[in-house]
Amino acid sequence: MAVKTVERCSFCGRSKKEVEMLITGLNGCICNECSRQAYEMIEQNLKEMAKTSCSSSLNNIPKPKEIVEFLDQYIIGQEEAKKVLSVAVYNHYKRLGQTIEDDGVEIEKSNIVMVGSTGTGKTLLARTIAKLINVPFTIVDATVFTEAGYVGEDIESILTRLLQAADYDVEAAQRGIVFIDEIDKIARKGDNPSITRDVSGEGVQQGLLKLLEGSIVNVPPQGGRKHPDQKYIQVDTKHILFICGGAFEGIEKKIAMRLNTKTVGYSASRANMVRETNDMIKFVIPEDLKSFGLIPEIIGRLPLLTHLNKLDRAALRRILTEPKNSIIKQYVKLMKIDGVDLNFSEEVLDMIVDKAMESNLGARGLRSIVETIMIDLMYETPSTKKKKIDIDPAYAKEKLSTLNYDVQN
Ligand code: ADP
Repeated sequence: MAVKTVERCSFCGRSKKEVEMLITGLNGCICNECSRQAYEMIEQNLKEMAKTSCSSSLNNIPKPKEIVEFLDQYIIGQEEAKKVLSVAVYNHYKRLGQTIEDDGVEIEKSNIVMVGSTGTGKTLLARTIAKLINVPFTIVDATVFTEAGYVGEDIESILTRLLQAADYDVEAAQRGIVFIDEIDKIARKGDNPSITRDVSGEGVQQGLLKLLEGSIVNVPPQGGRKHPDQKYIQVDTKHILFICGGAFEGIEKKIAMRLNTKTVGYSASRANMVRETNDMIKFVIPEDLKSFGLIPEIIGRLPLLTHLNKLDRAALRRILTEPKNSIIKQYVKLMKIDGVDLNFSEEVLDMIVDKAMESNLGARGLRSIVETIMIDLMYETPSTKKKKIDIDPAYAKEKLSTLNYDVQN
């Protein structure tokens, strides 16, 4: 006669009668109590694993000095900005890995603002950093944003871009980095009110402030304008690192004025007056951004202020040939693909730099100048059997004469 076996929990041994629920598997059973305990153990384990992976990933992330070494391969000069950025990115990782429960200390983020003329490498710095890090990263241009209700993009679309960069992984996007270019263009022009700017300036700044402060924002997943029947994704901006960049044209004047107001006084003589110079930018302080038209609340949310120096002749000359993917290296490579060995004489390189200095576009001018010299050669050479091309000053001068300013020599 077969004995009827009593079903018992394979873990605690209690019978079906002694528990609320017994789940039967192929070779055993588990009661509600044991499955709850198992669940708690798994949760605890996963937490531990997450902690160790955060601290071990900190071992894998580049230290500030390593970040700067990497940046040095692509960007000439701008040591101050490199240092500030590398520390900020490193701290960003540390903040993401922090466990607050232990000591109650919460590392807060320090968003950054970079001030420097056009073509000094602000965007290049941001792009190069993006190559190195493995958090979602996006670059947006502040000029496209307008206050809600006006033509242009809502400020929330910044987060749409970040979500896209994170493949719509919200958790990842919430740990990302956003570079906002041309932040100065949303400044309120206090002493020179312009109709267009008065519309957007402060409203956009208020919108941006919400993001910088850290809040939960409804983000339209496909960007564009918000409309009522669109589904939103909620993104918490608390841990997103914002890096802003702007030329703040004319800020040197404001810096000089500030320095002079401080020195004008009763012990000051005219000899102490600070003259506005090219490297005035290194004295920039948050107050200067305020007098430029950024609202104090925004400035307060961008506690790290750094500057990029104007590029002098020597820097432009180095930029032409030294960075890992310098403009000259790129053209040499282009020609090499056709089996052509391309050479620029030193004198030609100097001429290119002269032109760039004239154009006042910083390093931005270099590419179009080299392009002007190269365009005909790139058009004709692939159809010839030439194996070597030396660009000499006479040839460069002839090509550059088509640009609307004359070559100096
Ligand atoms: P910004 O954002 O400051 O206006 P960019 O970073 O866009 O300037 O610079 C434009 C181009 O000029 C870059 O793509 C790069 O080729 C070159 N460039 C600018 N500054 C530097 C620099 N410091 N080192 C190397 N290249 C630079």
